[in-house]
Amino acid sequence: MSVLIFLDQADGHIKKSSFEAAGYGAAVAKQIGTTAEAIVLGNVNDDLALLGKYGITTVHTVTDEVLNHVDAQVFTKIIAEAATAIAATVIVFSNNFNGKAIAPRLSVRLKAGLVSGAIALPDTTNGFTVRKNVFSGKAFANVTINTAVKIISLNPNSFTVATTEGNAEVAPFAATIEAPKVQVTATDKVVGEVPLSEAEIVVSGGRGLKGPENWGLVTDLAKLLGAATACSRPVADIGWRPHHEHVGQTGLAIAPNLYFAIGISGAIQHLAGVNRSKTIVVINKDPEAPFFKAADYGIVGDAFDVMPKIIEAVKQMKHL
Ligand SMILES: Cc1cc2nc3c(=O)[nH]c(=O)nc-3n(C[C@H](O)[C@H](O)[C@H](O)COP(=O)(O)OP(=O)(O)OC[C@H]3O[C@@H](n4cnc5c(N)ncnc54)[C@H](O)[C@@H]3O)c2cc1C
Repeated sequence: MSVLIFLDQADGHIKKSSFEAAGYGAAVAKQIGTTAEAIVLGNVNDDLALLGKYGITTVHTVTDEVLNHVDAQVFTKIIAEAATAIAATVIVFSNNFNGKAIAPRLSVRLKAGLVSGAIALPDTTNGFTVRKNVFSGKAFANVTINTAVKIISLNPNSFTVATTEGNAEVAPFAATIEAPKVQVTATDKVVGEVPLSEAEIVVSGGRGLKGPENWGLVTDLAKLLGAATACSRPVADIGWRPHHEHVGQTGLAIAPNLYFAIGISGAIQHLAGVNRSKTIVVINKDPEAPFFKAADYGIVGDAFDVMPKIIEAVKQMKHL
């Protein structure tokens, strides 16, 4: 019996959300009286022994070139093999793009119950019940998993990780690696920007900014704060901003510590993707804009007056 955590990596570095999944998995292991082990696929440059700080005892590695690109089918088979080899009874993913692609496949392969989008540790007092968000974060559901093997994918930014001392053992895992059915022929990467799904701070603009020529108000603040930029759906649809910045029900769901919404009305479909942010700051000239109901801080004002003042204030704070 053990808990297995899938560590997601990009360009040889473990993603922030995976450390959270590791800490969560270790806490689950403690709760059910077992050890937490992790698996990472592809070449990684980070010191994996440091995962010990998050409560991981062993990191299993499979370092084949072919695994540097995520292929959900290939990854699923390897993780299933590892889970069986270490007799994992709980498998933990981050509920990000890769987690969403792999966890359901693994669930079918291992005939394991899956709770996707978990937001808390399981309640193991009477069975194994996991709390998750439903209806775009408007309600909770407590889901009981009855299968022998249980899979949980954890919503990013929903678990506070406590770190300790200690190193993890790093052990190569001899997996059967199948040739991917899909060949990646080219990768078009956005460079020099903070990745939106990993960002601690996000500055986001809506149709209230009138046109792409005004986006300096968003990008200047984002640069000063080391933040990622985002936008509402119509902004991406009109072509003012690239589609990968679109957040919401039909775009990316994010949960940064701080979310600035500038000239965004706060329609339910937009909120669905951002309402898990820890702190929301809304700048809108309409005091009746629905976003103010979800805001922690709100400024009723014209973004073209307010934003230069905020940017100037941040510059002064940073002595720039
Ligand atoms: C099935 C479906 C899925 C959808 N999915 C998404 C999604 O994933 N993400 C998403 O964002 N939307 C989504 N939408 C669209 C959503 O319903 C809204 O239409 C959209 O979010 C509105 O975008 P907006 O707030 O930028 O624009 P608007 O609704 O036009 O609002 C602009 C806001 O800017 C304010 N404003 C105007 N001028 C200024 C100024 N000078 N200074 C300050 N404030 C100003 C206005 O008061 C207004 O509140 C979806 C819709 C449907 C039907």
